[in-house]
Amino acid sequence: MKYLDEFRDPELARSLLAEVEATVTRPWSIMEVCGGQTHSIIRNGIDQVLDDRITLLHGPGCPVCVTPLGIIDSALEIAARPEVVFCSFGDMLRVPGSDCDLFSVKARGADVRVVYSPLDAVQVAADNPDREVVFFAVGFETTAPANAMSVHMARKRGLTNYTVLVSHVLVPPAIEAIVESEASRVDGFLAAGHVCSVMGTGQYEPLAEEHGVPVVITGFEPLDILDGIRRTVAQLEAGEARVENAYPRVVTSQGNQSAQDMLAEVFTECDRSWRGIGEIPSSGWRLADEYRAFDAELRFGVGDTAVPEPERCRSGEVLQGLIRPDECEAFGRDCTPRSPLGATMVSSEGACAAYHQYRRLDGVAVSP
Ligand code: SF4
Repeated sequence: MKYLDEFRDPELARSLLAEVEATVTRPWSIMEVCGGQTHSIIRNGIDQVLDDRITLLHGPGCPVCVTPLGIIDSALEIAARPEVVFCSFGDMLRVPGSDCDLFSVKARGADVRVVYSPLDAVQVAADNPDREVVFFAVGFETTAPANAMSVHMARKRGLTNYTVLVSHVLVPPAIEAIVESEASRVDGFLAAGHVCSVMGTGQYEPLAEEHGVPVVITGFEPLDILDGIRRTVAQLEAGEARVENAYPRVVTSQGNQSAQDMLAEVFTECDRSWRGIGEIPSSGWRLADEYRAFDAELRFGVGDTAVPEPERCRSGEVLQGLIRPDECEAFGRDCTPRSPLGATMVSSEGACAAYHQYRRLDGVAVSP
């Protein structure tokens, strides 16, 4: 299939692996930031065929996984209200809150709908003027422009029954928090290409410079990732630390200016809590003051979101690359995709889900 097969070519993969092997002289740890990259790595066995001296660490770039428990609980509370139509992307429905998930609330009769675009939710609001329509606006810089556009369009259409429950987070502050953590073992980063397609590459320059870490922007196909690893290892071995764009078919240095303009109009930067990790300063977006009328937390009086995480779930350590999912005692036993303890086991970008789905259950007494 064009645009896929050429990025999965086994011969080219072998030559990239050989190049890494010929370059590396000592152990290095490289973190892939995005959950989509993690899934590609595990699905294609990239970590298993790499030179033993390269360790891949899985990062925090799974938007569903890092959405704090308190926000999930707020979503459950809002969705249960009889006047509300609660719209969300499908991957949020299985994410466990303190007591249940959105599927359970829907099963009890709440009007919870899966949409494929926030603009679909705006249309639901237009079609149901007597109902309160709420969209669960979760994610990184990739999903935020469309969510911002939905608020912009709702205002333009004069809809007063549309609000968004916002939990947007930003990648660079998370990388910075990981680099600055004393426990960090990361020598270099594979940054997420789709985030950079929106925001450009400039945000990573200070990170690479100030912290002395290479940041290589990569895509998601096996050859994209192998090429990103090859470039990162080459920089590390040469003692360099700079931003390198290994995904030029999608990413430009300036990013998508129209999307950035929409984000700047609708959102403003704020501190955000990351599930399992804690608060990271200036690591998210909330609605700008002139759009606060579209804020579901204000409309429904929810928002005191400090809720403790379940003690047994170690997803915070998984999301910071401190442990692998199969090093969590609950993995595959008490925590499975059918009975998850944490969001990293249910999200399509979660590292625990990737390990469970792609043959990493060796030695684990798996629950049926
Ligand atoms: S395996 Fe389950 S309990 Fe363990 S970190 Fe992952 S989601 Fe949490």
